[in-house]
Amino acid sequence: MLYLEVLVTGASGFIAAHVVQQLLQEGYQVRGTVRSLKNPLKVDPLKKLGEATDNRLELVEADLLDADCWTNAVDGCDYVIHTASPFPLSTPSDENEIIKPAVDGTLNVLKACAGKVKRVVLTSSCAAVGIYVNGPDESLSEKDWTDEKHPAAIAYVKSKKLAEKAAWDYQKGLNDEQQFELATINPSLVLGPILTQQGGSSIDLLKRFLSGKDIGLPRICMCICDVRDVARAHVVAMTLPEAAGNRHIVSTGPMWLSEVGGILKEEFGPQGYKPTTRTVPDFTVKIGSWFVSEMKTYKSLLGKYVNYDNTRMREVLKIEPRPLKETICDMGYSLIEEGKVAKSKKYKGKTSS
Ligand code: NDP
Repeated sequence: MLYLEVLVTGASGFIAAHVVQQLLQEGYQVRGTVRSLKNPLKVDPLKKLGEATDNRLELVEADLLDADCWTNAVDGCDYVIHTASPFPLSTPSDENEIIKPAVDGTLNVLKACAGKVKRVVLTSSCAAVGIYVNGPDESLSEKDWTDEKHPAAIAYVKSKKLAEKAAWDYQKGLNDEQQFELATINPSLVLGPILTQQGGSSIDLLKRFLSGKDIGLPRICMCICDVRDVARAHVVAMTLPEAAGNRHIVSTGPMWLSEVGGILKEEFGPQGYKPTTRTVPDFTVKIGSWFVSEMKTYKSLLGKYVNYDNTRMREVLKIEPRPLKETICDMGYSLIEEGKVAKSKKYKGKTSS
C-alpha cells in the first residue's frame, strides 16, 4: 500500500505531537523533524505513537536556521505542516532570538517546498490577527492583521505576524513550476491534554495555575482553544480544497484568567489543589511591571477584551469547538497523570466523562 507522506516540523511540540498522532491515525506516512534525536523526553513519546501505527513515523533532525537541512527533510513529501517556531513564556532582551528563527525558518522551510509539495499548512496564530478589541460586541476575523508596531506587540506577537506575512508574500511570488498551495491555522491560546514530556508555554501556564503559588491574577482576557481541535484543523486544512489560500482562526472563545482559575478550582480544589481565582488590582501589575519584565506584557492588556470569529473553523473546516471546561480540565488531569504536576494525597483522577 502506498501512503501519502507528510512532513511535520517541530514534531515534539505540544501542538505538533497531536498533529502527528491524528495524521498517523488517518493512515498517513509521517516524517517529523526534531532539533535533536538524542533527547529521549522529546523523542520517545513520538516513537511510541509511531510503533502503535505500523511504524509509519520517521524522525529526522532539522533546525529552522539551517537552510540546507530542509531539502532532505521535505524530499518525497506530498504535504508539509510547519509548526516549529520559538514560543517562550517570557520575552528575551534581544527580540531577534524569536523573530529570526520564526521568519527565516519559515522561509527556509517554504523554499525547500517550492515545486515539490502539493500544500503547506503553516501554524500561525491569533497573535498575527489582532491583540484586543474595544468591547464584547466586537471580534477579529481572518481579514485582520496585527500591527507589529502596536505597543502591546511583544516579540512573539511580531514573530508570528512577520512569519505569516513572509509566507504569504513568498508563496504569491512563486512561478507556476515552483507553486504549492498555502493555508494557515491561526489558533488562540491552545490548552488540552499533553502527549509528550516537553515543556512549552501553554503547559507552563496551566502548571502555574495548579501550583497555587500565585497570589492573584492580572485582569486579563484570553481566547482559548483545544489542542485536539487545533490538530484536527491542520489535518483537515491539508487536503480540503476550500482551505487553500486561506487563513483559519481556531478559537473556542474568550475567558478572563480568573474564570480559568474558577474552572480549575471547582474541579481540582476538592482533590487537594489550590488554583488561584483572585484578581489583583491593576495598580499592582503596573507597579510590578517596573521590576518584572513579564508584567510589562500584562500591563498593556489589563481589562482589554478579546474575541476571534471562529466561523471558518465551524463552517469550512467543520470543527465544532470543544467546551472550554473540558479543554482546561483534561489538561489539568493530563499534567498530573504525566507527572508534570505532583499528585496530591486527595487526588482521585478524572471521574466524569
Ligand atoms: P512548543 O514549544 O511545544 O513547540 C515549539 C516547537 O518548535 C518545538 O518542537 C521546538 O523544537 C520547535 N522549534 C523552536 N525553535 C526551533 C528551531 N530553531 N529549529 C527547529 N525547531 C524549533 O509550542 P507549541 O506546540 O505550543 O507551538 C507550536 C506552534 O504553534 C508555534 O508555531 C506557535 O507559535 C504556535 N501557536 C501556539 C499557541 C499555543 O497557545 N501553544 C497558540 C498559537 C500558535 P524543540 O523541541 O527542539 O525545542
